[in-house]
Amino acid sequence: MFKKIDFVRSAGAPNQFLRDGRPHVVFSGKSNVGKSSAICKLANRKNLARVSAQPGKTVTVNFFLADDSFYLVDLPGYGYAKRPRSQIEALAKITEGYLFSDCPICLILQLLDLRHPPTADDLLMIDWLRQSGRAWAVLATKADKLSPTAASKALEALRQQLGEDVPVIAFSAQSGQGKEQALAWISSAIMAKG
Ligand code: GDP
Repeated sequence: MFKKIDFVRSAGAPNQFLRDGRPHVVFSGKSNVGKSSAICKLANRKNLARVSAQPGKTVTVNFFLADDSFYLVDLPGYGYAKRPRSQIEALAKITEGYLFSDCPICLILQLLDLRHPPTADDLLMIDWLRQSGRAWAVLATKADKLSPTAASKALEALRQQLGEDVPVIAFSAQSGQGKEQALAWISSAIMAKG
């Protein structure tokens, strides 16, 4: 769907968030869940230049411009146990700063690892999403790492846990499973906003 995608900015403070009227599609999830891989897969790119969000580096919200018309927003990955306390606080602050900002968020894609039940941090995020009134949906990642039977069982368990009203799909950045559905969600969220 995207013909063009470019890294634009890593924002370390709210005054660096991009607010030029273009809608934002947000990717949220714990560290290592596959956010960067999902963004690359959806954008058909092998990798996207960006300031690395590796532990030890500054915690930032990363903005990618797609087709000059909307932003893909990569939130910092939470739940990385080895971060120093100061970074965990910075992460919470910048993430909240973004989610409570007046940025035109049209969709939040929450990534959960299909292989494991949601973590305590995932559940906190999900609670927030439920209360936020925002449009959100779940990409259950790394589906290729499970057998088809195990993947459908895990998906069913996740659907039961989250409830019928939450859209959930199995996703794999490796095989491309779920890509068309994710792109369809993004497209309709952008159209609804415009
Ligand atoms: P991030 O920290 O959420 O941005 O996670 P990354 O996209 O960097 O992925 C973390 C690790 O999981 C990397 O080694 C990826 O290659 C791997 N990974 C991500 N998505 C998938 C997937 O769908 N399938 C498989 N097999 N590996 C994946």
